[in-house]
Amino acid sequence: MPVDAERTGYLDEDYKIVLRDLRQEYRVRTRDGEGWEPFLAIESFSLDVKGGEFVSIVGPSGCGKSTLLDILAGLSRATSGSIAIDGKEVTGPALDRGIVMQGYALFPWRTVRKNVEFGLEMKGLPPAERLEISSRYIELVNLTGFEDRYPHELSGGMKQRVAIARALAYDPEVLLMDEPFAAVDAQTRETLQDELMRIWEKTRKTIVFVTHSIDEAILLADRVVVMSPNPGRIREVVEIELPRPRTNREMRVSRDFAAVRQTVWENLQETGGRSAPEAFPEPRISPGFAGKLAVADARLAASS
Ligand code: ADP
Repeated sequence: MPVDAERTGYLDEDYKIVLRDLRQEYRVRTRDGEGWEPFLAIESFSLDVKGGEFVSIVGPSGCGKSTLLDILAGLSRATSGSIAIDGKEVTGPALDRGIVMQGYALFPWRTVRKNVEFGLEMKGLPPAERLEISSRYIELVNLTGFEDRYPHELSGGMKQRVAIARALAYDPEVLLMDEPFAAVDAQTRETLQDELMRIWEKTRKTIVFVTHSIDEAILLADRVVVMSPNPGRIREVVEIELPRPRTNREMRVSRDFAAVRQTVWENLQETGGRSAPEAFPEPRISPGFAGKLAVADARLAASS
């Protein structure tokens, strides 16, 4: 269904993702626990993302990052506003969006190959084609030789590689990533970041990447969207003009990187006036998001 240009006030075929005036209201318990009241999680959120662009979203815990990704994934409907991908309104989960998140468990009863082939089965591709495509993406994430392993036989970093291969294999228009590397150790995280950059250079997917890490956001993105809380809004969009390809190694010693980091950090300070460690506590997944992903998979399976 095409986006209602009257309603959104905007319709531009040049953008892959068009978010207009998103507002998400939840119902939460009142303080006295006696009743319910509305809670505004996101307000006036508008953003365009170009095809092939890498956009990171940072902000303090509770500012609505996961809520936003939830809406983009089609796992929940915004209270108001509109969201379109390639000019088509998002009304639910679909194979035009791949999702990778911290706690997104792989199917434990499927091997690496079978996990990667999941979306291809949904699309109804014949076995020979599935084999060819899954081999390609398993190679892309450096897991050739591990095709027959089960998830419990893999390290955290390897599992995330499988999740990335699975999301990319069915060739989605957009990749949505919610703190995908938060659960792995620091060294593996850097390796995965470098790999993601290599994969992005190769595939040029449009990526929306949620993180609580300023360095990760800058390292990966063309633009960093800084959100402020209560309610969640865009505080600033910072263009990252650092040369590509980038690697952790180069960026760690880059003066330009340090300067951009300072800009983003200052913006984040102003979102709540708190110190960086407080403003960025342990990452967490929005309540119910992991469960919703399982529901989304089931829905996709049912609709195919
Ligand atoms: P972030 O990902 O930035 O940490 P979230 O998107 O998880 O933030 O949450 C934004 C705000 O909305 C938080 O205050 C959170 O407690 C609240 N929230 C999220 N999901 C729900 C829900 N299903 N019901 C009520 N409140 C929610």
